[in-house]
Amino acid sequence: MKKKEFCIMPKDTFWETERKEGLVRHEVFFGRGKRELSIEDGLVIFITPALHNMSDIGIHFNRDFDLYAKRIAEKTWIEYYNKTEEDFIKRYGKSYL
Ligand SMILES: [Zn+2]
Repeated sequence: MKKKEFCIMPKDTFWETERKEGLVRHEVFFGRGKRELSIEDGLVIFITPALHNMSDIGIHFNRDFDLYAKRIAEKTWIEYYNKTEEDFIKRYGKSYL
């Protein structure tokens, strides 16, 4: 049995919250050390390659989709870890709310 990957993100029509056949993992916050923080904090989603980076609507090229996921991730992080928006900025550099 595959190890379940840590994910605190809520279920959504656009992604799964655990790895399933054919899906790839996306770290909601990526680049400059944020990818590691996303993995550590469970801010990851599982999406189809097309919705990841294999098409123009993919989250890496689609600003609206990217921000949509980031806003949900920030709210979820604040709630899950009982933190504030300021705490989030300290860890991730900026707020998306
Ligand atoms: Zn990605």
